[in-house]
Amino acid sequence: RPVVTVRDVDKVYGNGTVALKDVDLTVKEGEFISLLGPSGCGKSTLLRLMAGLGEVSAGKVNWWEQDYSVVGQKGRKLAFVFQNATLMPWARVRKNVRLPLDLNRDKGEEAEQRIDQALEMVGLSKFGDAFPRELSGGMQMRVSIARAMVTGPNLLLMDEPFGALDEMTRNKLNDDLLRLWKDNGWTVVFVTHSVYEAVYLSNRVVVMAARPGRVIDEVPIEAPYPRG
Ligand code: ADP
Ligand code: ADP
Repeated sequence: RPVVTVRDVDKVYGNGTVALKDVDLTVKEGEFISLLGPSGCGKSTLLRLMAGLGEVSAGKVNWWEQDYSVVGQKGRKLAFVFQNATLMPWARVRKNVRLPLDLNRDKGEEAEQRIDQALEMVGLSKFGDAFPRELSGGMQMRVSIARAMVTGPNLLLMDEPFGALDEMTRNKLNDDLLRLWKDNGWTVVFVTHSVYEAVYLSNRVVVMAARPGRVIDEVPIEAPYPRG
């Protein structure tokens, strides 16, 4: 069943930059897709459109065969992880993870349990009371993953999430992410400009090129790569 369908999409920014031209992409349930390509090929633009952030200039994006106006209202279907952890520095880890629940006005015992589960999932149960600055970069990134997943979204969109981290931390987080994907049956779209990362993580690599940004190939990745 398709989770997101991108059909004949163009994106032209206000200054005339053609960021995407004739892009088609279908993300199916349970897939782990990488968007791979050089800087400026439109990866972030495409990911943002898949998150319902910004309007297409031509074509259409659908979620579960519906419009964003329908899906967006439910609020908890999509989750977005940015390159920087973008945590609130003045708030403890627990409060950071709680943010999407607060926005949905989810309170009470069930909300607390969701936060516990999200923290446990990323291995940070003991750090609920810590402040972001007390944690390493990799831990902060895991907090932002917990925050993204706390509402139980059906689609996780990640824009070079580990790009700012050192290579060892990044490899560790990639392994963590693969395990989480496998254990929880997530559907993930992951932006990267690393061929290694794309091949290591995903079921399918969507290769993009620049000027204008477009999809030039889709490569299925089979075993024997160690998936999770
Ligand atoms: P990538 O993520 O692959 O680096 P982007 O989607 O960020 O690519 O950018 C695609 C193209 O669109 C680039 O040429 C970039 O300069 C341009 N672009 C991105 N955002 C904007 C914007 N807000 N306004 C104008 N041009 C933009
Ligand atoms: P701030 O850093 O903004 O003052 P708080 O200390 O109020 O944040 O804590 C943020 C949230 O974390 C609160 O809603 C509270 O329920 C929870 N919290 C605080 N301390 C603990 C604790 N020891 N165990 C579990 N949850 C806690």
